Amino acid sequence: MAVQSTAPSLPPPPKNYIQRARTQQRNLTARAAEVGSAVGRSSANLISEVGYAARSVAPESLVRAYKVWPTKNVFCCWGFLMTGPVEDVGPNSCAWTSLLTPMAIFFYTWSDILWDPSHVPPVYSYFCCLAFASAVFWFSVTSFTDPGIIPRGPKPSGPMPPQRTRTDERGATVYETWCSTCNVYRPPRSSHCSDCDNCVRDFDHHCPFTRNCIGARNYGPFVMFLSSTCLSLAVVLISALALPTRVPPHPGALDPHSTGLRGLASTVSVVFCAVMAALLFSFTAYHVSLICAGMTTKEHLKGRRALVQQSTFERLCEPCAVQPSQIQPRKLVSIAVGGEPPSAHVATISQDDL
Ligand SMILES: [Zn+2]
Ligand SMILES: [Zn+2]
Repeated sequence: MAVQSTAPSLPPPPKNYIQRARTQQRNLTARAAEVGSAVGRSSANLISEVGYAARSVAPESLVRAYKVWPTKNVFCCWGFLMTGPVEDVGPNSCAWTSLLTPMAIFFYTWSDILWDPSHVPPVYSYFCCLAFASAVFWFSVTSFTDPGIIPRGPKPSGPMPPQRTRTDERGATVYETWCSTCNVYRPPRSSHCSDCDNCVRDFDHHCPFTRNCIGARNYGPFVMFLSSTCLSLAVVLISALALPTRVPPHPGALDPHSTGLRGLASTVSVVFCAVMAALLFSFTAYHVSLICAGMTTKEHLKGRRALVQQSTFERLCEPCAVQPSQIQPRKLVSIAVGGEPPSAHVATISQDDL
C-alpha cells in the first residue's frame, strides 16, 4: 500500500497487517514477560510503557482511506456511503425539503380518509405510499452512491502525452485523455468533475441537488428518481383536486381534517406541485430523449456527437446494469504520523491502492 505524502519515502504497509500485528503482539508479550522477570517488573507495566513510547515515535499509522480522501467527496456511515462536496449542502437541503414537504402535508391532512375504504380504495392508498417511498429511495441511492469515480494514480516522474489510443474489449480503437489532477488516462465519455475534484466514468453532469456527480453507476437511479418524483407529484396533484370532493364538510378551525385547512393545504399543494411538475416533467423528458439518442448531458450541451456509439436499446439497458465500484474507501492505508494530523500529510493515494 503506497500513499504519497510530504513525508519522504514511506514504506508500503503490510498486506497481511492483522496477522502481522498479532504475531508482533505475541512476541512483545513473551519478550516483556522474559524481561520483566529479569528486572522484577510486571510484564503488563512494561508493555504499557513500551507501547506509549512506540506510539510517540511511530513513523506511520494505518487509517481507513476515506478519512484521508484526497478529493472533495464526503463519506459517512464509516465509509460505506459517500456523497459530494460540502458546498452542495444548500441545494441538497432544498431538494430534500421540496421532496418531503408535499408528502408530509399530504399525509397530515388526508390521513383520516386515506385508510378508510368507504372514501378511498385501498389500492390507491398503497400506490401513494409506494410512489413516495420510491422517490425517497432513489433520491438517496443517487446521492449516496459512488457515481463511478476513477481512482487516482501515482504522480508520474515526467510529462505524459495528453492522449493515447487503446483497443477496447469490442476491438475498437478508443482515445483516452490524460488527467493531470487524477494522474490517470480516462476512457472516452469520462470527465473530471471540478466540483468533486475527481474523474468519473460516463460523466453526465454534476447535480448539486442530489449533491453528487451523475455518472456510470448512478445514472439509472437518477432516472428512476426523476420518474418516481414525477409520479409522486402527479399523485399529490390528483389527490389535492379529487379528495376534497369525496369527504363531507367538517368544521373545526384547528383540526387538520377540517374543511378550511384541507382547502388551504390542497391549494398550496396544487400550486407547488404544478410548478415542480412543470420543471421535473420537462427535465425527465429531456433525459429520456438523451437516452434514446445515446448521449450524455455533457455531450449534448457541448454540441458533440456521442463519444461512444450505442444503440437505443443498449443505452436504455445500461442504467439497469450496476457496474462495480473501483474505489475502496474502507481500505487501510499507511500515513505518516509525526505530531501533526494525518490529513496534513497525504497528497494522493495511488491507483494500485484504491
Ligand atoms: Zn481527473
Ligand atoms: Zn461532481
